[in-house]
Amino acid sequence: MKTDPRREGHQSIGEVTMASNVCVLGAGRMGSSIARTLLDRGYPTWVWNRTVAKCDPLAALGAKVAPSVEDGIRAADVVIINVLDYAASDALLKRDGIASALAGKAVVQLTSGSPRLAREEARWVEAHGAGYLDGAIMATPDFIGKPETALLYSGSRDVYEKHKPLLFALGGGTSYVGELPDQASALDTALLTQMWGGLFGALQGMAVAEAEGLDLETFRNHLSAFKPVVDAALFNLVDRTNARRFAGDDATLASLGAHYSAFQHLLEACEERRLNAAMPRAMDMIFQQALSLGSMEDDFASLAPLFR
Ligand code: NAD
Repeated sequence: MKTDPRREGHQSIGEVTMASNVCVLGAGRMGSSIARTLLDRGYPTWVWNRTVAKCDPLAALGAKVAPSVEDGIRAADVVIINVLDYAASDALLKRDGIASALAGKAVVQLTSGSPRLAREEARWVEAHGAGYLDGAIMATPDFIGKPETALLYSGSRDVYEKHKPLLFALGGGTSYVGELPDQASALDTALLTQMWGGLFGALQGMAVAEAEGLDLETFRNHLSAFKPVVDAALFNLVDRTNARRFAGDDATLASLGAHYSAFQHLLEACEERRLNAAMPRAMDMIFQQALSLGSMEDDFASLAPLFR
């Protein structure tokens, strides 16, 4: 028998198909995309937003607009929170009347926050009798609901297992990082750190390219050809750091000395073209520190202990 993929994960009792009632608190860009996806998959969805007009397009798709946060929570089995930050989330939840409404619910916090905030939130939610899952969305709103979209969760395994179909409806690349509630946020922070390294590097690279008379289309085309080499070096760095193989050996791709010598060209280009060199100067300090402690023959991974 063929099953409708949009009904997948909905619990069937006899002839009746049951889906969890969901309340999405926050109908900004991301919250609206989450609510639209849930509606599309057939989940009865309540929405609440500080500015109620933002709920109108969702109501037109079948969402029920909750008159208050408390009403939304009381109507739902699963409460998804997606507002600007934890301060906004606290302003919604940590009020009289809300705490008692939370008992027995599954709370899925999808607002971006730090590992510490996730730990504190888990303690507060669980103290009020609800299950807590902390999530990190590794995507922009247009990617919500796609098979490749990754969301990371940590916290209550029971909540994750019970509501897996709903969580996977938001992104097919969903994964459970662990029972400690801060682990999804920690992984999110670590992955974003790598992303910012790449984005800041691109900013510096574009400044150098244009200052030297190259157009950004040329930079872009060659960046894409160079990317597999950079990706391989990146994974090699992670693997060597994990194995604590800091001394240079036959498998070393480029010694610290070779990296440092090439890096001097960036410093020189910045100086000559009067470019912002704040980032290369910081990198230079780290290189010099590593070289004062180790040797030119070390692997690039020998920089890793300096970040701890
Ligand atoms: P947005 O600015 O579009 O929406 C913010 C929402 O927060 C709105 O619904 C607004 O009404 C609500 N809000 C703000 N302050 C509030 C307050 N004091 N009380 C009640 N509600 C308040 O932002 P967004 O892009 O939808 O992001 C929402 C969350 O999702 C953020 O934590 C963001 O970091 C996270 N996120 C966003 C993206 C993205 O690409 N947009 C990706 C990953 C994670």
